[in-house]
Amino acid sequence: MIDTLYPKHCAICDDALNIGEEGVCDKCRKRIVYISDPICLTCGRPITDNGGKCDECVNTRHVFKAGRSVFSYDFIAESIYRFKYLNRTEYAAFFGAETVKAQGEFLAQIKPDAIIPVPLHKKRMLKRGYNQAALLAHEMSKLTGIPVYEDCLKRSKDTVPQKKFNKKQRFINMKKAFIVGKNVVKLSKVIVVDDIFTTGSTIDSLSLELKKAGVKDIYFITLTSAGT
Ligand SMILES: [Zn+2]
Ligand SMILES: [Zn+2]
Repeated sequence: MIDTLYPKHCAICDDALNIGEEGVCDKCRKRIVYISDPICLTCGRPITDNGGKCDECVNTRHVFKAGRSVFSYDFIAESIYRFKYLNRTEYAAFFGAETVKAQGEFLAQIKPDAIIPVPLHKKRMLKRGYNQAALLAHEMSKLTGIPVYEDCLKRSKDTVPQKKFNKKQRFINMKKAFIVGKNVVKLSKVIVVDDIFTTGSTIDSLSLELKKAGVKDIYFITLTSAGT
């Protein structure tokens, strides 16, 4: 009854879902574009040959160990925008299931002790009311049994959105943007979860803090990666 009055929406096209459709409509399910091999073994972006690393990762010393993204950017960008800014929190279940399905092998190889969502600054959290990365993390946790550690990382400054900056400015913008709270002591391998991977400066910056707190290896999974 409630479903008929307030139908759920397709996480891709946002049309109301029909009875029997879960997460996405049947039409969209057939046209999902995932990031496919060959990929950079460090950042997970597509590369042209199976050489192992993209040019970016050959020239950058990342603090994180490796990461993967699920969907092609052009395919999923609008959907992520609605998930992030337009209250479409209902997409989280679909995104979580797709992430675990597409990156199940990666997760099985790592065997992380915890899933850590990239935190929002308090101010942003109050304005938005939810952290899309945390919603995704909890859905992944439901399916994998890996616990979510939501309070162990905090944003110490309300950073300006990264998209305005070049690589060097991003690095400066993200410097000391995170602080590690309690609870990380016993963690050895963690997987950081976010919606979009851009240059990696956000993940590198928080990885640095996690490492200082004793975490050995930091991996990440994002829904997509810019430019894919
Ligand atoms: Zn659809
Ligand atoms: Zn790379």
